[in-house]
Parts: sequence; C-alpha cells; structure tokens
Amino acid sequence: REIGNQGDFEFYSEDMGRKAGHKLEMEQQLRRALENEELLLNYQPVYAYLDGEISLVSTEVLVRWNSKELGMVGPEKFIPIAENTGLIVEIGNWIIQTACQQGADWMARGYRPFRLAINISPRQLRQYDFINVLQGILSDTGYPAEQLCLEITEGILIEDDQYARFILNQIKELGILLAIDDFGTGYSSLSYLKNYPFDLLKIDRAFVADLDIDKSHNQLVKACILMAHGLNMKVVAEGVETADQLKFLADHASDYYQGYYLNRPMPAKPFEELLK
Ligand code: C2E
Ligand code: MG
Ligand code: MG
Ligand code: MG
Repeated sequence: REIGNQGDFEFYSEDMGRKAGHKLEMEQQLRRALENEELLLNYQPVYAYLDGEISLVSTEVLVRWNSKELGMVGPEKFIPIAENTGLIVEIGNWIIQTACQQGADWMARGYRPFRLAINISPRQLRQYDFINVLQGILSDTGYPAEQLCLEITEGILIEDDQYARFILNQIKELGILLAIDDFGTGYSSLSYLKNYPFDLLKIDRAFVADLDIDKSHNQLVKACILMAHGLNMKVVAEGVETADQLKFLADHASDYYQGYYLNRPMPAKPFEELLK
C-alpha cells in the first residue's frame, strides 16, 4: 500500500491502530483466561493404517480459548500472543498438566493405552526449569513418559542449535518421544535433522492438501517419507482430508495419519465415546 496517498494512509494507520488495540485487549483477557477457566483441550486421533484397518496410536492435544468477551479463539490467534508476552509458560504448563491428568484418567479407567502428543512452543523449551516441570507433571499424574510425545516446530532449531540439542536430549532421557511438527514449512532440510533425537516427523498439511493437484508435492512427500525412514523416524501425515490422500500416503509407506477425513479435533467427552 502506498503511504504517500493521503486517503490510503489514513485508512492504513487507523487499521493498524485498531489492530494494536485489539491485540492489547486480547493480551489482557488472555492473562485472565487461566484463572477464569476459559482454556480447554481438544483431542484429535492419529491412526496407523494397515491392510485397510485403522487403529488409534495417539492423539494430538489442541488448545482452545473460549473467551467470555471474544468468543471462541483459535490457537493460531492467541498462541503467538502468549509467546510474545511470556504467558505461554504458564499456559503451556497448564496444558501439559491437564493433558497428562486426562491421559492418566483414561488409562486408570481401562482404555487401551495410546500416546498423547502435545505441542510445545519455542519459549516453553527455554524455561530454565522445563525438565523439572516435565518430571514434576509425570510423577504428579503418574502418566508414563513413554506414552508422551512433544511436538516441536523447526523454529527453535534454527535459532539456537546448541541449546536445542541439549534440551531435546534431556527430554529424550526422560523417555519422552519427540516429533518435528509442520515439516517442510520452515527452513529445515532433512540433513540437519540427523543432529537431533526426533522419533517422528509430521509432514505439514499444506503438502498433503496439494497432493495430486501439485505433482511436485507428490515427489516431495515421497522423498520426505523415504528420508525420514532412512533417519529412523516414523512419519505422520497431518491434514488428511480425502480418501485419495490417505491412499497415496499409505501407498508410499507413511506410518500414521491424522486429519478431518478420519476425525476432527474434539473435546474430551466425545473422544471418550470414540475410545469405547
Ligand atoms: P499443528 O500442531 O500443526 O496442529 C494441527 C492443526 O491442523 C490443528 O489446528 C488441527 O485442528 C488442524 N487440522 C487437523 N486435521 C486437519 C485437516 O484435515 N484439515 C485442516 N485444514 N486442518 C486440520 P489448530 O487446532 O487450529 O491448531 C493450530 C496450531 O496451533 C497447531 O498446529 C499448533 O502449532 C498450535 N497449537 C495448538 N494447540 C497448541 C498447544 O497446546 N500449545 C502450543 N504451543 N501450540 C498449540
Ligand atoms: Mg502439532
Ligand atoms: Mg502440524
Ligand atoms: Mg501448524
């Protein structure tokens, strides 16, 4: 937009002002979201698919904010604000605690065990006592470390290699699994992944969505799966929305599948119905 144009400029600055105000308002309300019990967790199943049979292997934990003032706010809106303000530490710890408590509860009630996959943002990993926090939650809830997977986006790896390697190795030592999330969207190349102890690679849904429409994505997804396997990682395809996508991925040996075609994310109650 041309700043030189007077009319445009006014519109532009007004718009920016409104956005900044909105952000500040959100930030203030987000500060009270935890005490007001406005945060909730959704669960989205991840399946293995063998010989036409699907079986649940894990579920991704996805946070939602049901704000009294703003209505339902998605994580893509408020997680960045939580990151910038540091609120993510408190919110993130609440998410891990609540998910592990829920997981332990499902186990105690005799549901077949499955993994919980929890998203961790860069700033959470930088908490000086993150390992203690994890240990505390595991012993508090009795949830087994082996049934927990932490999903990490590539951002942190570029920012600070040394620290990332150190903290990720410590997480592995607790027995927790690690996944690299949204693979293919950042600057990552598969070659540096071998320096980190990832167990799973999640192919970003942008690549899954364009399978068959953009033939170069077919090649990319195939190559990703092969190389991930070469590095001893399992592959999760996210954003599977059609039977054709599922078939393509299965034909090319993806290990696990997640997406609207299988299930949408859902609150704990309906997820429990599905477990039955
Ligand atoms: P993500 O970790 O890549 O999570 C997958 C996102 O894809 C989720 O969006 C999910 O609802 C959506 N999705 C799943 N299947 C499909 C599909 O078939 N089609 C389409 N179009 N979308 C699908 P959601 O829940 O809005 O979360 C967005 C992002 O917000 C997540 O991306 C993650 O980066 C972040 N996030 C969510 N929950 C948490 C959390 O508890 N902590 C942190 N730090 N970040 C979170
Ligand atoms: Mg994720
Ligand atoms: Mg993802
Ligand atoms: Mg994402």
